[in-house]
Amino acid sequence: ATPSLVSSAMRRLEGKVALITGGASGIGEATARLFAKNGAKVVIADILDDLGHSVCKELENESCYVHCDVTNEQHIQNAVNTAVSKYGKLDVMFNNAGITGVNKTNILENQKHEFEQVLSVNVIGPFLGTKHAARVMIPARSGSIINTASICGISGGVASHAYTSSKHAVVGFTKSTAVEFGPLGIRVNCVSPYIVASTPLARDFFKFDDKGDLDVYNNLKGTNLMPHDVAEAALYLGSDASKFVSGHNLVVDGGFTVL
Ligand code: NAD
Repeated sequence: ATPSLVSSAMRRLEGKVALITGGASGIGEATARLFAKNGAKVVIADILDDLGHSVCKELENESCYVHCDVTNEQHIQNAVNTAVSKYGKLDVMFNNAGITGVNKTNILENQKHEFEQVLSVNVIGPFLGTKHAARVMIPARSGSIINTASICGISGGVASHAYTSSKHAVVGFTKSTAVEFGPLGIRVNCVSPYIVASTPLARDFFKFDDKGDLDVYNNLKGTNLMPHDVAEAALYLGSDASKFVSGHNLVVDGGFTVL
């Protein structure tokens, strides 16, 4: 094979179109970079417009940015429509945007509106993303939907009640939609990362301020989990390498939750 054929064969999302919510930062940004490097055309959907545009400019393939609050159905609809109008289809939907909400472990301090806000972004967001991706994927009889859950979707006690509840919901929603969409040729899976200490979400929530603090949360190998490591899991789920994998929760935690 010529070198160009070899490199094209190694690009695992060649010819595919992906939409990534929360793609302007952290895990979503790392995934946008990895997907583009692997041949995907990428639509980044986020509320951080400047960051989103600048990430797009750096991607190694065609890409665009769409302002999209995942709690707003019209925004999600518009983001999906943008993928289709610009690139002709939608192969991979990564419902990744998320928030932690305030870090209050005492139930008596938890406010209803704060709890609802976390559920709105972390659960309603993936619901709307899945619904509108399905609108396009069902006629195509093909697609891969990936949701970002968390180790907080498996265990309690790592984060707030709202966040833990929301991520358990994401795991359940992944399974229920995988059942519905299986016969339609669409796979639905989720990734459940351990603490990715370098992202703004984790830094704000845990108040990490220096390397010393991060060491407390090292994984079993003694190294920090990085956004890129989670992106690799999403790449597997988005690519045809996982063509028989659906309804799965791919835990990326260095073994933390099996301790
Ligand atoms: P991050 O803060 O770097 O990225 C989150 C992105 O989501 C940001 O770009 C933000 O603007 C976007 N976002 C927030 N609310 C939004 C909304 N309403 N509409 C659209 N976009 C919105 O954080 P991250 O760590 O990369 O988080 C990504 C996902 O990973 C989240 O779902 C988070 O819950 C999950 N997660 C993170 C960790 C961790 O430790 N960092 C661990 C497990 C799971």
